[in-house]
Amino acid sequence: MESLRLEAIHRRYKQGDTTLEILRGVDFTLNPGEAVALVAPSGAGKSTLLHIAGLLEHPDGGEVIIGGRATSGLSDAERTRIRRAELGFVYQFHHLLPEFSALENVMLPQLVGGLDKREAKKRAQELLAWLGLPQRAEHRPSELSGGEQQRVAIARAVANAPRVLFADEPTGNLDIVTAEEVFDSLFKLIKATGLAALVATHNLELAARMDRRITLRDGLAVEV
Ligand code: ADP
Repeated sequence: MESLRLEAIHRRYKQGDTTLEILRGVDFTLNPGEAVALVAPSGAGKSTLLHIAGLLEHPDGGEVIIGGRATSGLSDAERTRIRRAELGFVYQFHHLLPEFSALENVMLPQLVGGLDKREAKKRAQELLAWLGLPQRAEHRPSELSGGEQQRVAIARAVANAPRVLFADEPTGNLDIVTAEEVFDSLFKLIKATGLAALVATHNLELAARMDRRITLRDGLAVEV
């Protein structure tokens, strides 16, 4: 089954007297175990598309289907439940909680999701090890390098084993080598778990390493 499907997504913003048609009927499919790069110039609508696909924003038209389930008719509570249980988010800046350790940052979404503490800790340790961070688990974010912080942010985003991961410039704040290392960890995870990822990035080298690349052209998603 498809992890994510977008059907004829429309989004427009009013600016004074004019209307900006940002998305004009985006169709897109993301399959399990697939990493797709979203590469487009600033202002093309990448963040808008990620917000809509991530159920953070409603489209003006069209349907977002997560794991075979159409979401447009769902209540806000149900959309929030799907977002927590089935979707993960990574941003350019990690937004880790500064007063908690790396391990605790990865445990928290699991505890919120109802897992008991011992299981959450075990899974957090496994994820951090998998992402190449076993020795730094007890450190706070401020004691970690930018690459390490981003690994923790990825571990946190996938802590509840989401179906789809959305990443908006996840390595935009990192040097080239670190960006590649962080992306390699993420790619390994995608291939090992069947997670599906849609990654907005300006980094063409990273985009080239993903399974597919799309761009936004005249408000439509096209493969490049
Ligand atoms: P990207 O992520 O590709 O840089 P965005 O999705 O952030 O692009 O924005 C696409 C366009 O939509 C931009 O022209 C932006 O100014 C406009 N836009 C985004 N959000 C809003 C909003 N809430 N109100 C008005 N215009 C918006």
